[in-house]
Amino acid sequence: MASYKPIIGLEIHVQLNTKTKLFCSCYNEYSPDEPNKNICPFCTGQPGALPVLNKEAVKKAIIFGTALGSNIPEKTRWDRKNYFYPDLPTGYQISQYDNPIVEGGKLSFYIEDKTNGNFESTEVVLTRAHLEADAAKLLHANSKTFVDFNRSGAPLIEIVTEPMIRSGSQAMAFVSELQLLVRRLGISDADMDKGQMRFDCNLSLQNDEQQKTDSLPSYRTETKNINSIRSLGRAIEYEIKRQTELLEKGERPVQETRGWKDDLNKSTSQRSKEEAMDYRYFPEPDLRILEISSIDKPLFSNLPELPATQRSRYLKLGLSHQIANTLIAQVEVGSFFDHTTDQLSDSKTIKTIANIISGPLIALSAKTEKKIDAIATSENLIILASLFEQGKINNQGLLAALEILSTSINSNMFDILETHQLIQVSDDNALQKIVDAVILSNKSVVVEYQLGKTQVIGFLIGQCMKESKGAGNPKKFTDILLANLTK
Ligand SMILES: [Zn+2]
Repeated sequence: MASYKPIIGLEIHVQLNTKTKLFCSCYNEYSPDEPNKNICPFCTGQPGALPVLNKEAVKKAIIFGTALGSNIPEKTRWDRKNYFYPDLPTGYQISQYDNPIVEGGKLSFYIEDKTNGNFESTEVVLTRAHLEADAAKLLHANSKTFVDFNRSGAPLIEIVTEPMIRSGSQAMAFVSELQLLVRRLGISDADMDKGQMRFDCNLSLQNDEQQKTDSLPSYRTETKNINSIRSLGRAIEYEIKRQTELLEKGERPVQETRGWKDDLNKSTSQRSKEEAMDYRYFPEPDLRILEISSIDKPLFSNLPELPATQRSRYLKLGLSHQIANTLIAQVEVGSFFDHTTDQLSDSKTIKTIANIISGPLIALSAKTEKKIDAIATSENLIILASLFEQGKINNQGLLAALEILSTSINSNMFDILETHQLIQVSDDNALQKIVDAVILSNKSVVVEYQLGKTQVIGFLIGQCMKESKGAGNPKKFTDILLANLTK
């Protein structure tokens, strides 16, 4: 039986976070509660209104290309993409056709093998990325359709990859890294709930012969309207299954555009090749060819540290992929970790600090809605990590100390530990006394244990910890309890 291998190319629309729109001075802001707030004759398509290029958008597109090692041509051109739709009153979109601002480039990232938890390095090569103005937004309610022009004319970069992605999980890992990158570069907020990052997915299945010669199948489908990373994974899995079933029946999937329906978890056909759009691209007569030399071009060396560079720095410190990714996800978290561990050389302490930040500190930050550097100072974090390693505080004590610090960040760490008795008790005599008391007051549980219900040991350890107000060393409690119970 023939085996089929997916081959996927993506088109990703990323909205740039410029102050104003691409060709007019209206604010480029997300304001769904105030439709048609930021509009002017140009972005509502009034006859005679002329475009004026926003150089900030051009610069942000160049920053993107620079980060990916793409070619930025000396000149770039604008083209009209003609089509009719109610969200496009001019009947055309200003885009770029055969002379995009970003050519080629690639993005390296890791993909997790869920079967064994290993991470493998991979990369996706870009065909191009071009600038274009977004359309308005249609809203359907009460059997009526409304149009909101706030989004009309917002600057987008459309990023096109080579057809080389092989699975839904690879596609998801790629767009996650892309999201991280554009946020780090400060060129987009890439908030998918606000439609600031959207995906179209081209997919076909190679048969054995095509796999051998690495050639593309004679058809492909394009799934549009994918608005989240999770939906991208689902849309790909859906399409692989649908095409496999057709091919196994001896049918060739139709070349067509499909629309993803998130609520139904499926795609439906929108139009086939026979009725494919002919956009009749032609050069935009109202805009000049853009000389890139007229733009203050950013240098790679002036860009912020890229997520991939930061990740490899963390992996070299011995951190796991999961911990490294947690630290990278938010700029301020990574900076806090870097600042805290800056002068440290002991890799064990560095790892402990990474664990504390990526676990309890981030959790506390979410709970208290405070930034992590407003919960604990670097100095206190280093003290806590060292005490933890030396076995002087246990996990519970560590969490309690952080919780107290979150309400009084400038307190003396040692005062807190002493006042709240958080220093771990490891003294055998003191622990033995607590164990004796717990055994005495839980006689029935002790009998259950001795009759073979050994899991009740957990309850007894818990009682000892409670008795010691969380300050006892749980490992020592376990040892002493076991010694006493099996007497
Ligand atoms: Zn406008």
